[in-house]
Amino acid sequence: MPEAPKSEFWQNLKPIANSLKPDAQPEVFHQLAQIEDERYYAHLSETVLTRPLWINVKDNTWCDVLWAKEAGLVNRHYHPHEVFAYTISGKWGYLEQEWTATAGSFVYETPGEGHTLVAYESDEQMRGIFIVKGPLIWLDEDGNSTGHFDVHDYLALVREHYDKVGLGADLINQLIR
Ligand code: FE
Repeated sequence: MPEAPKSEFWQNLKPIANSLKPDAQPEVFHQLAQIEDERYYAHLSETVLTRPLWINVKDNTWCDVLWAKEAGLVNRHYHPHEVFAYTISGKWGYLEQEWTATAGSFVYETPGEGHTLVAYESDEQMRGIFIVKGPLIWLDEDGNSTGHFDVHDYLALVREHYDKVGLGADLINQLIR
C-alpha cells in the first residue's frame, strides 16, 4: 500500500496477496527521476544528453530522458524497431518529418524509420521521455549503415560516465530488468 487513504472510496480495498510471482523481479520506481541533475546524463551526442530510467537487456530496449540545453543533434540513424517519445519541454523534431514536438507531444515511430533528431533553440530546454527498442543503426549521408548503437553500447556509455562523475558504474544496474 502506498500512502494511507483518508476517505477515498477505495479505502477498504485489500491489495492482492503475493502480487509478485516468485520469479518476477521488482518494479523500477523513481519518486523523482532527478531529471535536472546533470550527473545522471551521459552524452548520446555532443549536444544531446541521455538519462536512463529503465533498461531491458533481453529485449534490447531502454527508456531514457533526452535533454538538449540549446540547439541539439542526434545524427541520422535507422530504427529496425519501434520508438515512443513523450515531450516534457522545449521543441524538437526529425528532419524527415513535418511535425515539431512541444510539451505534451507524443510520437510513436514505426519500425523501419530512419531519422535525424534535432532540438531547437527555444525559451525552454528540450526534454523528452523516449522508449527505444534497439539498435540504432548509424547512417552516412547516402543512407548507408556505418555502425550501430544498442543496449550494450548504451550500458557501456552510461557506466563509463557514472564512474567518471563519481556515481559509480554499478548504479545503472538498479535500472536493469
Ligand atoms: Fe531515433
